[in-house]
Amino acid sequence: MFNKTRMILTGWYLLIIMLLSISFSVVIHKILTQEVVRYAHIQQIRMERRLHIVIADDDLVNEITGRITIALIAINGAIFFISGGLGFVLAGKTLEPIKEMMDEQNRFISDASHELRTPLTSLKTSMEVHLREKSATLESANSLIKESILEVNRLQTLSENLLQIAQYEMSKNVIKPVQVNIKVAIQDALKKTSSLMKSKQIDSINQLIDTPVLGNPYALVDLFVILIDNAVKYSQSGSRVYVKMKVSTKSVAIRVIDEGIGIEKEDLPHIFERFYRSDSARIKNNTGGYGLGLSIAKKIIDEHKGSITVKSNVGRGSEFIVTLPKG
Ligand code: ADP
Repeated sequence: MFNKTRMILTGWYLLIIMLLSISFSVVIHKILTQEVVRYAHIQQIRMERRLHIVIADDDLVNEITGRITIALIAINGAIFFISGGLGFVLAGKTLEPIKEMMDEQNRFISDASHELRTPLTSLKTSMEVHLREKSATLESANSLIKESILEVNRLQTLSENLLQIAQYEMSKNVIKPVQVNIKVAIQDALKKTSSLMKSKQIDSINQLIDTPVLGNPYALVDLFVILIDNAVKYSQSGSRVYVKMKVSTKSVAIRVIDEGIGIEKEDLPHIFERFYRSDSARIKNNTGGYGLGLSIAKKIIDEHKGSITVKSNVGRGSEFIVTLPKG
């Protein structure tokens, strides 16, 4: 598919270059021939006047125009091969970002389908096993339903995450940035995560400052929901989460700090990749996530021309530092 498109694009580049080259060659040929004929005619008149005889010698003119034609054909042939080669390289370069985007999209679709298929298969199997069970009781049916609801909840989270990613991709160039008070966005995010905090008896200690940032207000709230939600998810009950802000002349730094399980050194470079979950998150802390939150957070930060860094100590906690340009 990539090679076929590359050949087609090369063909178009070649067609445009050859059309231009041949048109210029025709014009150059015409002008040069006219000039040669005119020059030969003047020379002929001069000689006739000087020698008082009639000279009729068109052979030289024909030879010169013939040579011009051959030279132009050779030049066009060279242009054909050179521009063919260059066109092929250029077509490859033009298509490279599109190819990378398509590869990434295909990888994403296959990862998402895999994540969807696993819980669906497990739901289907346990239901089929239950139906086949002759000694099934109301109690076992209830426990199956409870387990299934947990799986369905996870699937719902996954579909919401996928929808969120699709929405960011679509709205990227549609939503006009507006001035957002980052303190209000963080407060909204804290409200949205308050029930999870309450359920784990986690307190949040916040130092927020009114600061304007240029961006998408909904995306900024989502960004802090992801970071605060993670801070709570990966922390023990009764611990604390801190949200702190530091404002400088050009930017604002927001730190989301927890006292939770921390992140292993070898996981740190990967946590912003789609579908990446550390072993400790998957095994020790069965939070039911899909490893999409931080990749969405990164996307939002990139859209706002900001940056994110992480510091973490296993068993002691993590600190996510978001820096955004001031609006
Ligand atoms: P999810 O939390 O749904 O698994 P994320 O993309 O939000 O997905 O996070 C990716 C991984 O990064 C998590 O699985 C976890 O291993 C790690 N992580 C993120 N935030 C924290 C945190 N505050 N404390 C410890 N680990 C974290």
